[in-house]
Amino acid sequence: ATPTSIMVGTGRGAELGVLFRKGEALQVLKDARVVALDKTGTLTEGRPTLTDLEVGTGFERAHVLARIAAVESRSEHPIARAIVEATEKAGIDIPAITQFESITGMGVRALVDGIRVEVGADRYMRLLGLDVESFEQTAQRLGAEGKSPLYAAIDGRLAAIVAVADPVKPGTPIAIAALHQLGLKVAMVTGDNKRTANAIAARLGIDEVVAEVLPAGKVEAIQRLRGAYGPVAFVGDGINDAPALAEADVGLAIGTGTDVAVEAADVVLMSGSLQGVPNAIALSKATIGNIR
Ligand code: ADP
Ligand code: MG
Repeated sequence: ATPTSIMVGTGRGAELGVLFRKGEALQVLKDARVVALDKTGTLTEGRPTLTDLEVGTGFERAHVLARIAAVESRSEHPIARAIVEATEKAGIDIPAITQFESITGMGVRALVDGIRVEVGADRYMRLLGLDVESFEQTAQRLGAEGKSPLYAAIDGRLAAIVAVADPVKPGTPIAIAALHQLGLKVAMVTGDNKRTANAIAARLGIDEVVAEVLPAGKVEAIQRLRGAYGPVAFVGDGINDAPALAEADVGLAIGTGTDVAVEAADVVLMSGSLQGVPNAIALSKATIGNIR
């Protein structure tokens, strides 16, 4: 590609709300074989709401929710905001906590009135030696509905299953169809539950799902997809996505996402809509293709 064609392509990108931070990305993007997308905040709005709460025998709903919200009040995860908001809206007082701790990819814990409360994924409960089998039917239903199930333990006993749901962005289905039109494979990479991820992927016609990955697992997923299909474009918005954005052949960040993601990316989608991804690839094909 000539410097002039790169300039023209970069300029057209800007008109489309696609910011090329590196001119090289415009040349490489046309060769992508697979587009891998983070789920929360990328395919979805990243603003979940609390949808379900089921407590175990001997536990009282308002009491349990207050304790869950207390622990979450110190977390910055979007799940936490959903739970705290719903609790406040229900007019339930949220108690103070001590010894808050966040366990990456697992959940959060703290002491409420000196009593241990843990909230997180099923694997976190298993790590604590708790059996989540008693909520298995509910968990299956929630997963099939595309909701993310979480569990709470109080004083070392499994107390509840809760679910949050995060709506898909309105532009996501059309953007995925456009990527398929361009002949690309589409993959989802997420730290969320497998059932939930599979249900959302099936609805969107996504070809491959890599779920329940820790942040480092996203980098491995990129390497595996590259081995299977060829050059990978990865799209993400979170701090967790920065290593995968750097690892991908082209990293695209959602402009409304975290600064850390934007800084690790080659391309920034200014509007937050995923339509920028097929637009950027089409632009790369048109610009670079034309001058050969
Ligand atoms: P993701 O961005 O996909 O949510 P994370 O690594 O941040 O990935 O979290 C992975 C999983 O760990 C979440 O899907 C959730 O099950 C659990 N988790 C993380 N943070 C919290 C939290 N504050 N409260 C409850 N569960 C959490
Ligand atoms: Mg995200």
